[in-house]
Amino acid sequence: MTKYVFVTGGVLSSVGKGITTASIGLLLKSRGYRVTAIKIDPYINVDAGTMNPYMHGEVYVTEDGGETDLDLGHYERFLDVNLSKRNNITTGQVYLTVIERERRGEYLGQTVQVIPHITGEIKSRIREVARDYSADVVLVEIGGTVGDIEGLPFLEAARQMWLEEGASNVIFIHVALVPVLRATGEQKTKPVQHSVQELRRIGIQPTAIIARSERPLEEEARRKIALYANLPPEAVFSNPDVDVIYEVPLVLEEEGLGRFIVQRLGLEDREPRLEEWRSFVQRVKEASKPVRIGMVGKYTKLKDSYLSIIEAIRHAAAGLGVKPVLNWYESTLIEKGRLDPAKPVEENDAVIVLPGFGARGAEGKIEVIREVIERGRPFLGICFGMQLSVVAIARYLAGLEDANSTEIDPDTPHPVIDLLEEQRYVDRLGGTMRLGAYPIKLIRGTLVHRLYNREIVYERHRHRYEVNPRYLDRLVEAGMEVSGYSLEGGRVEFIELRDHPFFVGSQPHPEFKSRPMKPAPLFTGLLKAAMEKH
Ligand code: GLN
Repeated sequence: MTKYVFVTGGVLSSVGKGITTASIGLLLKSRGYRVTAIKIDPYINVDAGTMNPYMHGEVYVTEDGGETDLDLGHYERFLDVNLSKRNNITTGQVYLTVIERERRGEYLGQTVQVIPHITGEIKSRIREVARDYSADVVLVEIGGTVGDIEGLPFLEAARQMWLEEGASNVIFIHVALVPVLRATGEQKTKPVQHSVQELRRIGIQPTAIIARSERPLEEEARRKIALYANLPPEAVFSNPDVDVIYEVPLVLEEEGLGRFIVQRLGLEDREPRLEEWRSFVQRVKEASKPVRIGMVGKYTKLKDSYLSIIEAIRHAAAGLGVKPVLNWYESTLIEKGRLDPAKPVEENDAVIVLPGFGARGAEGKIEVIREVIERGRPFLGICFGMQLSVVAIARYLAGLEDANSTEIDPDTPHPVIDLLEEQRYVDRLGGTMRLGAYPIKLIRGTLVHRLYNREIVYERHRHRYEVNPRYLDRLVEAGMEVSGYSLEGGRVEFIELRDHPFFVGSQPHPEFKSRPMKPAPLFTGLLKAAMEKH
């Protein structure tokens, strides 16, 4: 019998509901249960792929090529599993399915309605994931906050599942913010009270409340929340701010949340195995030797745009026992001449040129890469960053003046980066890039091969453009080395520079497969090279 844990949010969004959900998952997994997690996004986009990362944070790419919400990244990193695109359910997907079915005449004669048709589709998607994973427990995080109009059908579906699966198989955990009043330092519980009222109004009685606050929850506040939520005080948990997000499961375990949940689900409680996790957190907290990384991109104001890269750096740093210091450089400023392209190189031990799209800011990135090449500093270019490093090599080492990517300049005399052949016939924008994991054959003797220490690797992709094979000979002659080709189609996947201590370009996104205790080899390699610079 599969158990379901619905996680709802109250008061404000972005209080760490995703990390809380991932942490609950870890507490269950560490007790030997098979866990999977679903993120529900009540927006009408079919997937996150068409959204601006600047507003919504990074688009997380799954193994099977889903363009999903960044919370799936938290789930994968905390649970150390690969999830599918079906683990991200949106309003857009649900309505699209129901409307297509209606057009095929499958509801002939009926009035198609939110209840039961939309809620039915939501429930069947959740149960399908449960079945596919043979999960003991499925976590379902409902995005946004209780009271949002667009979230209602999902909450209604959750309520129905409670009825259908039985009260001992479905629980509701409400994560809500408890703000602290600056003037008095007092923890205010009224907003939580109101969001719980809202939940109960639609027929959901929370099983537990997790109070997010700057500081640990005071007993008085705990008591008050419990009373208004119709719960015993033991069902109210404190989740204060911590320095390292990976500490959250340990804090919640300390609070007794793991045991509480298994008991409420009627599962046997077992001793959680968190030793490795604990020592990982310890390593992160104890590391003091700084390694400075210059992060060059155009969405640098919203760090969530590059969330998985930041986490991948943290994992690699923990493995090496160093403390990463990230310095951010906005490439649009470099391009406008308002920021010196030498700065990211001079002020750091290594440079990462981040993924991205479109012409704006691209010349700024190319200028930084030129500095990296000239000064022989450790460099990793990811996706767009890799493509622009090929442009820089073409311009400054191969003498191909005005070389460019056709994404930036469609009329360039030297299109060293060009549209993927199959993309020429694509006329729709949602979900049409080259997406997901593909096998890559690494070339012996290259730096990338040494780092992975494998013949074939699977990394995740999200792109429309690629290295133009017509220019390969000239680029190789100029000092570039191809270190990996896609197994099918022979596309260029990794490049490096021969006479450079560490210069790697990666067409795929290695950050998506980095895990706390299994850092991605390219990031470990970059940080090692950065440490040697000292
Ligand atoms: N814009 C580039 C492409 O479409 C790179 C994409 C990326 O960095 N994810 O190929």
